[in-house]
Amino acid sequence: MTAQLINGLALAHRLRATMRERAEKLSQAGYRAGLAVVLVGDDPASAVYVRNKLRACEECGVGSQSYILPGYATEGEVLDLIDRLNADDSVHGILVQLPLPPHINVRRVIESIDVCKDVDGFHLYNVGALVLGQSVFPPCTPYGVQLLLETTGIEVAGKNAVVVGASNIVGKPMALMLLQKEATVSICHVRTRDLAQFTILADILIVAAGKPGLITGPMVKQGAVVIDVGINRLPNGNIVGDVDFESVRERAAWLTPVPGGVGPMTVTMLIENTLRSAERVAGLAVT
Ligand code: NAP
Repeated sequence: MTAQLINGLALAHRLRATMRERAEKLSQAGYRAGLAVVLVGDDPASAVYVRNKLRACEECGVGSQSYILPGYATEGEVLDLIDRLNADDSVHGILVQLPLPPHINVRRVIESIDVCKDVDGFHLYNVGALVLGQSVFPPCTPYGVQLLLETTGIEVAGKNAVVVGASNIVGKPMALMLLQKEATVSICHVRTRDLAQFTILADILIVAAGKPGLITGPMVKQGAVVIDVGINRLPNGNIVGDVDFESVRERAAWLTPVPGGVGPMTVTMLIENTLRSAERVAGLAVT
């Protein structure tokens, strides 16, 4: 079997086209959806992520403002900025690019964001809502994966889903969303003994560990759906996922490529959340 590829880039472009129309509708109602992005320090990878997010806003007709603070900025300065953005009616979404410098308490900063503008979905309120299945702003990466599965016509209910990786931003919310869709979910992490014993049972295997080549063909059930969330830069500069693409492609029925799979969906769902926030404020029908 050779897996069919799930083209996240193509879906992201389709979604962004409909988002442009929504932004247009908002502007006819006198509103411009706006995202504020806060970057502290000069981490090159973070700078690239922020640039991509601002570019996606532009593509979708969503306003964006970036606030770049030096790495020595104090926690108080970051909190003051968030306070101002919370009070700014032109801002419908606030995103703080992680990681923050070690002297800044990440939780305190995230918890200071107005829950109605928490478009990353990392605030305790939104995390709690996700646990109850009433998510306001689903976290962007798992939300993107969920849409990739839905649009590919992959039924989740009743399936064995295995999530490799248990981070707060990908693995845990992903597992909760799959559970919400009535999959039977296992979560694996660094301390999981014999990873393959779990992955081989997965009808749907989601991998988000940040370890290139972690999942190889023999670890995958014949005909499985494999979603590779990992983004790893190899010493030769190539970007790869966590899945050994060639060997897994021979076993899976569906597979996301890296790049061009989950990555473009993550940024797109950030725009989705920002638009939804603005539509709520404008009193427009929320999708
Ligand atoms: P993270 O915070 O480092 O979490 C990694 C998770 O994987 C942890 O739960 C860790 O277990 C687990 N893990 C690590 N090695 C493992 C192993 N050998 N076996 C089983 N589990 C293992 O990373 P993250 O932020 O979730 O991101 C994961 C990957 O996805 C990274 O490559 C990141 O760049 C990528 N990513 C991609 C997107 C996208 O849009 N495509 C978005 C976000 C992240 P412990 O909890 O036990 O440490």
